[in-house]
Amino acid sequence: MTGAGISVDSGIPDFRSPGGIWDLFDPMEYAQIEAFHSNPEKVWKMLRALGDMVGDAEPNPGHLGLAHLERLGFLKTVITQNVDRLHQRAGNTDVVEFHGSDEHLVCLRCGKRYERQEVSQEDKGAVPRCECNAVLKPDVVFFGEPIPEQALVRADMAARGCKVMMVVGTSAVVFPASQIPFAAKRNGATVIEVNLEATPLTDSVTDFFLKGSSTSLLPSLVEAIEKTIL
Ligand code: ZN
Repeated sequence: MTGAGISVDSGIPDFRSPGGIWDLFDPMEYAQIEAFHSNPEKVWKMLRALGDMVGDAEPNPGHLGLAHLERLGFLKTVITQNVDRLHQRAGNTDVVEFHGSDEHLVCLRCGKRYERQEVSQEDKGAVPRCECNAVLKPDVVFFGEPIPEQALVRADMAARGCKVMMVVGTSAVVFPASQIPFAAKRNGATVIEVNLEATPLTDSVTDFFLKGSSTSLLPSLVEAIEKTIL
């Protein structure tokens, strides 16, 4: 399970840190679904800034380490709270996007979906609109919106079925993401946490706490695993 921390070294600042999206745009003002409904033009200023941050990013050694772990047969599913698609681009094939993805835009009126690229290319500067003329919304989860049902179910199944859960770059304290490591632990999984600082998980569900950056720790971990299996 991963969060914003794993993408920081790809140039996407943690949302709440200086330079992060919630430092530049107050989430209470820009990230509530009601704000999108009442003033989509304003909210799209934040969405463009987010799109620029995410659009320039490349997978870093942390993402690549997880992809390598999958190729070695030790990692099955990645549950991510990130919307940047860097896990898929690194090579992981089973990724549960808990908070949706920045890749598609959806029409809240007629349900039509668009690739982000095709829309933003044609419509730079203006708010992207559907054929039906309603304003389009990126397929990311706003505050006040439910987690996509399928993501909830898949995350829960993966958590309850795993032998080991690695929690990387997230304190996972916000409901319902917060339930995932606990569900794994209750079902007998070993929990390995990779974070820069201790989190509320560290003294509750974590069995092994690896303190440091995922960019350096994950490749070392993969290398150590490779040595033991060769
Ligand atoms: Zn539409």
